Amino acid sequence: MSSANRTVDRLRPFTTTIFAEMSALAVDHDAVNLGQGFPDTDGPASMLDAARQAITDGRNQYPPGIGVPELRRAVARTQHDLYGLDYDPDREVLITVGATEAIAGAVVGLVEPGDEVIMIEPYYDAYAATVAMAGGVRRVVPLVPDGDGFRLDRERLAAAFGPKTSMVLVNSPHNPTGTVLSRDDLTEIARLCVEHDVVAVTDEVYEHLVFDGRTHTPLATLPGMRARTLRISSAAKTFNCTGWKVGWVSGPPELVSATRTAKQYMSYVGSGPFQPAVAHALEHEMGWVRESALALQAKRDRISTALTDAGFAVHRSEATYFVCADPRPLGVDDGIEFCRSLPERIGVAAVPVSVFTDDREPWHHLLRFAFAKRDEVIAEAAERLRRL
Ligand code: PMP
Ligand code: GLN
Repeated sequence: MSSANRTVDRLRPFTTTIFAEMSALAVDHDAVNLGQGFPDTDGPASMLDAARQAITDGRNQYPPGIGVPELRRAVARTQHDLYGLDYDPDREVLITVGATEAIAGAVVGLVEPGDEVIMIEPYYDAYAATVAMAGGVRRVVPLVPDGDGFRLDRERLAAAFGPKTSMVLVNSPHNPTGTVLSRDDLTEIARLCVEHDVVAVTDEVYEHLVFDGRTHTPLATLPGMRARTLRISSAAKTFNCTGWKVGWVSGPPELVSATRTAKQYMSYVGSGPFQPAVAHALEHEMGWVRESALALQAKRDRISTALTDAGFAVHRSEATYFVCADPRPLGVDDGIEFCRSLPERIGVAAVPVSVFTDDREPWHHLLRFAFAKRDEVIAEAAERLRRL
């Protein structure tokens, strides 16, 4: 058999993820890894105890296909308490192997080959890859600068909707920019979904990590949207457990059922003992999450100051783990090359934003820095950034 690339054409553009590439470079050069978005401290102690207890109690075999009942109930209750959204935990909630499997299940279960899927650019890399797996066609709508932050290009959004549109994938709070879509942007997305009879899949994995007194508004709470929105969230970023891979979808039964149909042949199930532990955390540790968001806000401030001091032009981060910085004041124009050289040059790893875009031009310079790191790690990164 020849050693040529045997990956199918539609997946060739996705051979390695930028996160793997930059994390490997960080390890090679012993760099502070502000590339891949994961926290370097654990979630609430009682959640970790609950996972250990679940293992001790023998919850180590396949959980039910739709997820353990206590987690489905906790997911439903949290949304009721926070947003007034009511979902039936038996028919309208599905536990997945992280938000990643939720996205894949939703896209593979709901998109026909040739259907168009609208997504906001820059987009999370899994969106493009899973739309390609489903044989769908991606249509991107860019964020545009708005002061030192970003907003949706609403004209381009309206122009993207057409007879072939079957889904819009909305990520707010937004990775990689840290933007929280405004009420006006959400209202326009909702209006277009209703007018064109389109399903919205909302990736809200950063829903609890919003800063400066902002609040997160699920698209499903807008008029006409509950019936056509599949909400995705995950324990990964909420409870600092990215390795547990516990995510979920909530939505009307027909959207959840389509997702389940695909999902049950992807992983079937996963994360058995971690599901009750996340249920425990949703029931008892939302205070921990509020504290964690406040701590993250302070970390955002520290890394933003360090980047500004190093000569970057720093964008506003309203939420998430991420802040974007423009290196052009330092005389640097190519974000990809810069990110490849940074670990060796100064011992810091970041991620180039342009890899999350189709139209790279407006984004080619920009870098994303992840700041969910211990204070001493951010201080070390700040020290190293001064070498620039
Ligand atoms: N969507 C976005 C926007 C993300 O940043 C991530 C990474 N947390 C995911 C989905 C994947 O989430 P999970 O780790 O739960 O699969
Ligand atoms: N969500 C994380 C990020 O954006 C990474 C997840 C991954 O490595 N696929 O950095």
